[in-house]
Amino acid sequence: MSLDSTIEVPLMTRGNNPAIFLDRDGVIIADKHFQINPDDIEFIFGSLDALKRVPLGYVIVSISNQSGVARGLFCERDVIVFNDALDSRLRSFGINIAGWYFCPHGPDDNCPCRKPAPGMIFQAADDLSIDLDRSWLIGDKSSDISAGNKAGVTTILVRTGYAGIEEEKVDVRPDFVADNLYGAIEIVIRGKQT
Ligand SMILES: [Zn+2]
Repeated sequence: MSLDSTIEVPLMTRGNNPAIFLDRDGVIIADKHFQINPDDIEFIFGSLDALKRVPLGYVIVSISNQSGVARGLFCERDVIVFNDALDSRLRSFGINIAGWYFCPHGPDDNCPCRKPAPGMIFQAADDLSIDLDRSWLIGDKSSDISAGNKAGVTTILVRTGYAGIEEEKVDVRPDFVADNLYGAIEIVIRGKQT
C-alpha cells in the first residue's frame, strides 16, 4: 500500500464488514458530464443485474467526485437530490446502497476526498465499520484505481465510462480489469484467489 505524503490516514479500529466501493458515473450509470437532473439517469447495460448479484454480507458504497459543485454548476443539495433519486430507483430493484459519498471540491482545492485521494473510502470505512482488507473498489477512471490502491482495497477497472483513459490520467495498475460492472462483480464472487 502506498500513501501520498499529503494524506492523513485516520487511526481506525478495524471494521467487520467487507465493502464494494463503486464509482457512480461510468460504472453504475452512464457518465453524462456534470449531470444533475435525475431524469437523465441511465443505467449502464448489466449494472442492475450486477448489483443484484452482490454476495450477502457486502456493504455497497458509492464514492463520486462531483466537482460541478466547486465549479458553480450545481450545489451540494442538487447532488443529494440526484443520489436520492438514484437510490430510490435501485431500491425498487432490491438493491441497497449503504452510503452515498461525494467530493464537492475541484482539482485545485487539494482536499483529502477528491479521488485519486482516498478520503471518501476512509470516511466510509469509519462510518460503516468496513474492513478494508476484505474490500473492493470498482471504477472506470485511473483516479478511482489510485484511490483504491492507497486505501489498500482490491481494485477492478471497468471498460465502461472512461475505461481508465480520462484526462489527467494517473499511472496506476488495477488488480483486475473487467468489461463492465457485471464482469467486475463476477470477479468479486470468484474471490481474490483468481
Ligand atoms: Zn473533496
